[in-house]
Amino acid sequence: MLTTTGVADNNLIQRCLPSPSRRALRPYPVIECFQKIPCNPCSTSCPFHAILPMDSIHDIPVLDFEKCTGCGACARVCPGLAIFIIDESRGDGTGSVTLPYEFCSLPQKGEIVSTMNRAGYVVGEGTVIRVSAGKTSGTPLVTLSVPIEQVHDVRFFCSKKDTDQLVSKDGAEINTDKFINSEGVDDEAMICRCEGITRREICELIAEGYTTVDEIKRISRAGMGPCQARTCGPLIADEIARMTGQPRDSILPSMHRPPVIAQPISFFTGGDEK
Ligand code: SF4
Ligand code: SF4
Repeated sequence: MLTTTGVADNNLIQRCLPSPSRRALRPYPVIECFQKIPCNPCSTSCPFHAILPMDSIHDIPVLDFEKCTGCGACARVCPGLAIFIIDESRGDGTGSVTLPYEFCSLPQKGEIVSTMNRAGYVVGEGTVIRVSAGKTSGTPLVTLSVPIEQVHDVRFFCSKKDTDQLVSKDGAEINTDKFINSEGVDDEAMICRCEGITRREICELIAEGYTTVDEIKRISRAGMGPCQARTCGPLIADEIARMTGQPRDSILPSMHRPPVIAQPISFFTGGDEK
């Protein structure tokens, strides 16, 4: 599911969780980083060394939940916005989800917001209980109080004002289906996160006649970012197959020029980094 929709399924999420006893003890991070991308700020930023050192910058982060205090420092520095701090220890039927929030303006403490799941569907309401903009740098963190059974569902929110506007504009209940096209996929879904290219933009290029992954890569830069098409490549191939009617397995991936794995400068200079 991750490679076709970009949305992690429950099996993947379950693998990120600590033991039930640790979950009940204090907040913990859920690191939703599943692909080998060249990135490591989480592992170098943890003040408690709870995210284990990586042998390679492509390694997937590994967390020692016993060392982790749930401080949230890693969520603030993750450029992929892939880390969420979950608190199931409150004991009052609610839990909290702390998520990175890159938009202006920040919500107000006490604000009631519409909560959304990983696919962007509204799942309910939450209350903003903390807004932490950070002293110097890093992504602001917003903590939402939500029903305890939703702590592994809620991953974003929007203001009630926005959803109310949608309701009044159409005179209908909030229905995120209207953002979904006939194939059940959001046109504005981000296909290439590294270069910020949406599904609609990819489809427009295919309609213009760019019908290989390589052609789309060259015209749009999709697949040229840090992940080197690991996520967007298969998604673009899916769209080409769907729109052109070609068998999916006949759509070739984009061409990779060596080195296919990023190397430190010292690899080419024989040990001299300069
Ligand atoms: S929440 Fe804090 S202690 Fe836990 S892994 Fe992240 S930075 Fe380290
Ligand atoms: S994307 Fe975030 S979680 Fe993944 S390696 Fe980078 S900093 Fe760590």
